[in-house]
Amino acid sequence: MTNPLTATTLDNWGFRTEHPLVIAGPCSAEGEEQMLSTVREIVANTNGKVQMIRAGVWKPRTRPNSFEGVGEIGLPWVKNAGREVGLPVCIEIASPEHVYAALKNEIDVLWIGARTTVSPFAVQEIAESLKGVDIPVMIKNPVNPDLELWIGALERIHAVGIIKLTAVHRGFSSYQKTMYRNPPMWELPIELRRRHPDIPIIVDPSHIGGTRDLIYTLAQQGLDMGFEGLMIETHINPDKAWSDAKQQVTPERLGEILTTLIVRQPKNSIDALADLNELRSRVDRIDDYIIELMCERMGISEEIGSFKNEHQLTLHQSERWAQIVKRALAKGTTGGLTEEFILKLFQQIHNESIRHQEKVIAK
Ligand code: PEP
Ligand code: MN
Repeated sequence: MTNPLTATTLDNWGFRTEHPLVIAGPCSAEGEEQMLSTVREIVANTNGKVQMIRAGVWKPRTRPNSFEGVGEIGLPWVKNAGREVGLPVCIEIASPEHVYAALKNEIDVLWIGARTTVSPFAVQEIAESLKGVDIPVMIKNPVNPDLELWIGALERIHAVGIIKLTAVHRGFSSYQKTMYRNPPMWELPIELRRRHPDIPIIVDPSHIGGTRDLIYTLAQQGLDMGFEGLMIETHINPDKAWSDAKQQVTPERLGEILTTLIVRQPKNSIDALADLNELRSRVDRIDDYIIELMCERMGISEEIGSFKNEHQLTLHQSERWAQIVKRALAKGTTGGLTEEFILKLFQQIHNESIRHQEKVIAK
């Protein structure tokens, strides 16, 4: 048994983390001047909204012979750029060596990238190297849509005593071609939130979208779902970036995005929460009622099953089914439900009902 996964809230990280926690900076650190000018422009254009600077110095690339990051030499560039504007900095680490180099260079926050989270061995080695170190760690979801692997990585880091933890949602790879580079599959971070409500979640619209046009919409969706922050790749000259050129935005565009986003208060901190809770408990009561009614309905189905069995009647009687659907459609559409929803719902109810009838026959 691993310890229950817990995390401190972002305000215990030791620097300003107002809602939403916005992290911005280039995909890769390319030079001292690129870091400085990007960070200065970010600060000049975003009115205090950006609270942390990001950059990668070791870049996990799909194919060899692409730019794999400048390496350790870039760490002081990142740190000094942050110092220049008074902001903490974060970088990606993928091995204990990276961790030691980052700590030596006083990097404030570390993140584990999507290609590393997939490997329990790699995550475990990183965890060991962090024993006794007090530093926030952000864990990107694994490339593949596997929630257990994501939680497993959070648990491994948590197990060595790191409680300044967040998850970063950067979308999941898909074999199918989609409009996204990594489709968001929001149900996964939502399920993570349900299972581990105190792990903050930061959305990375840059790696989800893969193109700069999608960033605003994805960022808004992330905030609308109540997630705690955004990580947005920002470059002084995005088209000339050495990695992820298509998805990076200029500091000016970042400023526009951040001004346009509608930020609602995070969970627990709004006066309206009491009203919201009242509405939620009404929904819960109705959901309970729906489930109780379904259980009762399936009980009757079993009685019908026994009856049909005794009297040698066929299980599925299509006229009866047509009649049920017709009644439901008439009533439901009048009440504002869509035809599609009613049909799907009743198909499921019907399937479950047949299973219950078969169950009594099999006895
Ligand atoms: C990155 O943040 O630049 C990066 C490599 O991200 P990911 O691990 O999400 O692909
Ligand atoms: Mn990137």
